[in-house]
Amino acid sequence: MIRVGVNGYGTIGKRVADAVAAQPDMELVGVTKTKPNYEAEAAIRRGYDLYAAIAERAGEFETAGVGIAGTLPDLLESVDVVVDCAPSGIGAQNRSVYAAHDTPAIFQGGEGADVADASFNARTNFEASRGADTLRVVSCNTTGLARLLAPLEAAYGIEKARVTLVRRGGDPSETGRGPINDVVPDPTTVPSHHGPDVNTVLSGVDVDTAALKAPVTTMHTHSVNVTLREPPTTEAVRDLLADESRIFTIPEAAGIDGAGKLKEYAMDRGRPRGDLWENCVWEESINVSGRDLYLFENVHQEADVVPENVDAIRALTTDLSAAESVERTNEALGVGL
Ligand code: NAD
Repeated sequence: MIRVGVNGYGTIGKRVADAVAAQPDMELVGVTKTKPNYEAEAAIRRGYDLYAAIAERAGEFETAGVGIAGTLPDLLESVDVVVDCAPSGIGAQNRSVYAAHDTPAIFQGGEGADVADASFNARTNFEASRGADTLRVVSCNTTGLARLLAPLEAAYGIEKARVTLVRRGGDPSETGRGPINDVVPDPTTVPSHHGPDVNTVLSGVDVDTAALKAPVTTMHTHSVNVTLREPPTTEAVRDLLADESRIFTIPEAAGIDGAGKLKEYAMDRGRPRGDLWENCVWEESINVSGRDLYLFENVHQEADVVPENVDAIRALTTDLSAAESVERTNEALGVGL
């Protein structure tokens, strides 16, 4: 069993913890919180051992009646790998703590690429990540783009990809985020940093991105145009994407017109927290004109990186192939709609 700790039990951390607990070859040793809030209480109710992320604040848990099993150093001594799910920038600060305990670590996409030995996406560079002591699972948008562009590059070659990212303003629990009444370019400069980030896991693909923020919390939307080297038929691209285990091609007959119904569908299917681990591509939006491919996809920012974190754990700690790991992760979680 691979013993795993999760440092930072927020939006991503709680989902990674559940996904780890669901794997047949992993044991979730514990999770950390900085304070004894509702998430800490819920973690304990779920049966997870809770550790104080900041040792000096351990007393606050006791005062609040929230029992802890120890502090972060205790957790690091008991695990084979730690998944850092702390807020952007804090992961980089935690890096030296993990190194001091000789604990292999996985970081998230809010950190710069230099936080880890390599950036990671299971579809594009699982094998290339072998031998690393630390990995960075790329961000939700980058994960979605890598999953989409990798099969297109392999099948037809990509001359140039151009993607407009309409990003959610904040996650549902982030009540202070915005905008609340506007759609704003973010960043205002074009291209955005997302294209170069794709190249950290899928090198050699020419991709330019422009990004906006919209007053929604549910999902990101990508408007995609890819100029391919070989012109496929629309039908061939639909089949290609439908064959990808982490891409859901939304059938036209489903009547799903946006993120609201996608999330509703996920909940109807009994998905935990209404999570969509797959890229969601509108089948009828897939259209090839000459060598130009067009499509729309949605990416659930809270969920798509979760199976990638599970695979990153195996890339760091086992000899399993990418295909074996992805299959095991998908099976244990129920990925594939
Ligand atoms: P979050 O704020 O929801 O959760 C972070 C958790 O870490 C919180 O529970 C916070 O209390 C805790 N924390 C704060 N300081 C800490 C410390 N010093 N040590 C340990 N824990 C600490 O953040 P999130 O959205 O889960 O993001 C985590 C990482 O995942 C970031 O790098 C982010 O960029 C990345 N990411 C986020 C999303 C998303 O849409 N939410 C998607 C993909 C990747």
